[in-house]
Amino acid sequence: MKLAYNLFPGGLSKALTLSYDDGRIHDRKLIDILNRHGIKSTFHLNSGKFGMQGYIEAEEVTALYSGHEVSVHTVTHPFLEQTPRERIIMEVVEDRRSLEGLAGYPVRGMSYPFGTYNAEVVSILKALGIQYSRTTQSTKRFDLPEEPLLWHPTCHHRDMLALSEEFLALTPKPWGTKPSLFYVWGHSYEFHDNNNWEDIERFCSLMGGRSDIWYATNMEIIDYFQALDRLQLSVDGSILHNPSASPLWVSANNQPVEIGPGQTVRLGEL
Ligand SMILES: [Zn+2]
Repeated sequence: MKLAYNLFPGGLSKALTLSYDDGRIHDRKLIDILNRHGIKSTFHLNSGKFGMQGYIEAEEVTALYSGHEVSVHTVTHPFLEQTPRERIIMEVVEDRRSLEGLAGYPVRGMSYPFGTYNAEVVSILKALGIQYSRTTQSTKRFDLPEEPLLWHPTCHHRDMLALSEEFLALTPKPWGTKPSLFYVWGHSYEFHDNNNWEDIERFCSLMGGRSDIWYATNMEIIDYFQALDRLQLSVDGSILHNPSASPLWVSANNQPVEIGPGQTVRLGEL
């Protein structure tokens, strides 16, 4: 029995996630476009900037970002690697507390203000229970993150159309496949400033509404692979138990197998 944890929900091998920073008013138009195409994004917000000119209001967070993910971007957007330890903690925890009060769920993700960090910043995030944090270093690849606290995206949105064709052309291989994640980041105001909203419209038309792509927030991807990690497997590799509350997919002899929440599956009988 060849067993691999290489599938997204639905037994899919491709996923798309978006990641937008700063909580600017242009998030409203961006979300309208994403929602029309069923594409999900994570929004990294600075709670200290709500209501300032050009930024969204605290009161609209719940409704505006519903169906997407609200995530930490610190209270005031400092360079964290230049910030005293005590202030790093405050910037992360207080942003988290404010966002949780608005979003109504535990906020566990983050992106680095200015994309900058150092080893101490990363270790503090770990201690604060932050599960992932996105950088601004484009990989131009479709890999899952090796270290979620240093999650390097595929590309900034200026390069998303150029990479679309390559991503759409990827096909699962009969000898097993690598899960492919297309991770795009940016700021919604850039579409406004550069007057190129048609780029995101075009990208969403190309990418949206497809049965071979899982549309997920940043946190949903991390949560899914953490749940896969917690699958319980018998020594002989034939019995799998899913102790989580979500359905999970594995590939057994290159066939997708769904294991429901709390379900035990004997792979040998399939
Ligand atoms: Zn930012």
